[in-house]
Amino acid sequence: MREPRPFTAYRLKDLLSDIAEHVRPAFGKGKVADYIPELAKVDASKFGMAVATLDGAEVAVGDADEPFSLQSITKLFALELALNRGGDEIWTRVGKEPSGTPFNHLAILEAERGAPRNPFVNAGALTVTDYLMARVPDVSTLVLEYIRTCAGGITGGLDETVAASEMATAYQNRAIANILRVHNNLTHAPDAVVDAYCRQCAIAATVRDLARAALPLAMDGFSIHSGETVLAQRNVRRVNAVMMTCGMYDSTGSFAYRVGLPAKSGVGGGIVAIAPGQGAIAVWSPELDRAGNSLVGTIALEIFAQNTRWSIL
Ligand code: GLN
Repeated sequence: MREPRPFTAYRLKDLLSDIAEHVRPAFGKGKVADYIPELAKVDASKFGMAVATLDGAEVAVGDADEPFSLQSITKLFALELALNRGGDEIWTRVGKEPSGTPFNHLAILEAERGAPRNPFVNAGALTVTDYLMARVPDVSTLVLEYIRTCAGGITGGLDETVAASEMATAYQNRAIANILRVHNNLTHAPDAVVDAYCRQCAIAATVRDLARAALPLAMDGFSIHSGETVLAQRNVRRVNAVMMTCGMYDSTGSFAYRVGLPAKSGVGGGIVAIAPGQGAIAVWSPELDRAGNSLVGTIALEIFAQNTRWSIL
C-alpha cells in the first residue's frame, strides 16, 4: 500500500526550488510559439511554478508574479462555464474523445462532419465559445471574471495586444470555424466566434493566479479563496476526466505516463495540473515541445509528481 505523504508548505517550497535548479539543462531544447507574432516576443528563459493547496497555502518559485498568456488554458474555464450554464447540453455539440491530432487540426473535423472530438482542441473550444456567446454579450469578460472568482482575485487581465496579434493571424482558426459553420455547429458568424475566442485566449495571469483558479478542481468545486462553490461536484469529475484524456493534445498519453495528473496546457507555455484532494500546480516556461506543450513545464511537473507522489494513478 502506498503511504500517504502529506507535504507541508515548507517542504513544497524546497521541492519547487530544487525543481527550478533541475530543469535548467532543458532550456534551449524547445521553441517559443511564433505563429501568434506577439507570443514570439516572450523571453524564453522565464520559469515560474506555483502550488495552491487545500488549506489555502500557496508556494511559488521563479517568475511566479509575472502574468503570461494563458491561451488554451482558458478552454478549461470556458468548459466549466458552459457546464455551469447549460449542464450536459454542450456535449450534444462537442465530444469527449482524445483527438490524437494537433490542437488546430482541420482534416479530422471535416471528415467527422463538424463534430469536434473534445472541448480542448480548437474546434471544440470554438464551439464552446459560440455556446457561451448565445448566453452573454462578452465571453472573454465572462471567462476572466470566472477565473477571478475561482482564484479569489488575480493580478493578470486581458492582454489586448496579444488578442489583436492573434486575430490578425488566425487563418487556421477561421478555417476551422467555417467548417463548423458549414456543418451547422456554430450559431454565430464564424469570424465573430474566432474574434471572441482570440480575446478569451489572450487572458494573462501568473502561475500563482492559475494554481488558485484551478484549485476548486482539486476540492469538489469549492473555491477556498472566494468562499463559494464554483462548479458542481459531478462536473468536477467530468472536467478532470476530459483533462486527463484530452488536455495535452496529441501527447496526452505520454504526459499521463510521465506525470499522472489531469492537466491543461497553452501555447503561452503554461500548464496547470490537478491533484484531486491535494492541490493544483501551475508552471510556466515558454519553450514548447512538438505537440505545443511547455517542454520544461512538463519536466517540472514530472519531477514534482515523482517527489510528492501526488497522482491519481
Ligand atoms: N489561441 C491559440 C490558438 O488557437 C491557442 C492554442 C493553444 O494554446 N494550444 O491557436
